[in-house]
Amino acid sequence: MDLYKGIIKGDIASLAKGITLIESTLYEDEKRAQELLKNCLPKSGKSIRIGITGIPGVGKSTFIENFGKLLTNKGKKVAVLAIDPTSEKTQGSILGDKSRMHKLSSDKNAFIRPSPNRGTLGGVASKTRESIILCEAAGFEIILIETVGVGQSETTVKKLVDFFLLLMLAGAGDELQGIKRGIMELADALVITKADGDNKQKANNAALEYQRALHLFPAMENGWTTKVSTCSALENKGVVKIIEAIDTFNNKMINNNWKIKNRIEQNSYWLHLKIKEELGNKKYKSLVDSGKIKLLEKELEKGKTIQQLIEY
Ligand code: GDP
Repeated sequence: MDLYKGIIKGDIASLAKGITLIESTLYEDEKRAQELLKNCLPKSGKSIRIGITGIPGVGKSTFIENFGKLLTNKGKKVAVLAIDPTSEKTQGSILGDKSRMHKLSSDKNAFIRPSPNRGTLGGVASKTRESIILCEAAGFEIILIETVGVGQSETTVKKLVDFFLLLMLAGAGDELQGIKRGIMELADALVITKADGDNKQKANNAALEYQRALHLFPAMENGWTTKVSTCSALENKGVVKIIEAIDTFNNKMINNNWKIKNRIEQNSYWLHLKIKEELGNKKYKSLVDSGKIKLLEKELEKGKTIQQLIEY
C-alpha cells in the first residue's frame, strides 16, 4: 500500500514503515521521507502532545500504560514515542519498549514506538518531531513523548510538546532525581508516583512540599499554574485526575491562542536549529542579519516543511 494513503487511513503498519523511513539515514530514503512528511503535514496538528519524564524506575511505563488504557477504552487513539538520550551509549533504547507495556501494545487504538537509537539528542528529537506529524496524520489524538529525566533531554522535549508532565518519587531527594529548579519550572504538572501502601503518606507529604515550593516560582506566561498531585498507577488511583487536568489545559490553551502560538514558536526553534546544523553558523547569521529568516518563518507557518525551506 502507498505509505501516505495507508497512514491517513490510520493503518498502523504504514505508520510504522513511515517512521522507519523518517528515521533512515540512507541518502536515497531522505527524499521519500521528506515527500511523505510534506503530504502528511496538512493532516497534522490536531492532537495534544504530552511530554512525560522522570528518572528510571519512577514508574513511567506503568503510568503510561494506565494513562493510555483509560484513553483508548474511551475510543481515543494514543501514540507513545520515546526519546532516549542514553541509547547512544547503551546501543539500544530502553524507553517506549513494547515489552514493558503489554496491555497498551496489544491495543488497536495504541501505537508504541521506541526511541531511534542513533544520533545526537537534537537529531533524535528532530526525527521524533517528524514522527509526531505522521502519527497525527494517522489520526492519533494523544501523543505521549517519553524521556528519561537525566537533565538534558527535558528542555528538548519541552520544545516538542504542549504539556509537560514530570513524574517524581517521594523521598528520593531532589538531587538524586536530577530535579533542578529549571526542570521543575518546565513542568505543567508534577506527579508523585507510587502513592500506595506504606508510601502513601510520604507521597502526600512530598506533594504538599512541592506545592509550597512552586508558589515561589514566577507565573507562567500562558496563565497556567503547575498542578501537583499523587498517583498510584498500580492501584489505578489519581490518573483520571491528571487526564482531566490535561484536558482543562488543552481547552484553555486553545481558547487563549497559546497552543497555536507555542507551536509556531517551537517550529521556528527547530528551523533555526536545522539551519545552523545543515548550513552552518555563518549562513545562519547572514539569514538573521538580512532578515530573511523571518520570511522563512512565515513560509513555515504556511505549511512548508523545514527541509523544503533549507533546500530553498
Ligand atoms: P520506568 O523505569 O520509569 O518506566 O518505571 P516502571 O514503570 O518500569 O516501574 C518501575 C518499578 O516500579 C516497577 O517494578 C513497577 O512495578 C513499580 N511501580 C510502577 N508504578 C507503581 C505504582 O503506582 N505503585 C507501586 N507500588 N509500584 C509501582
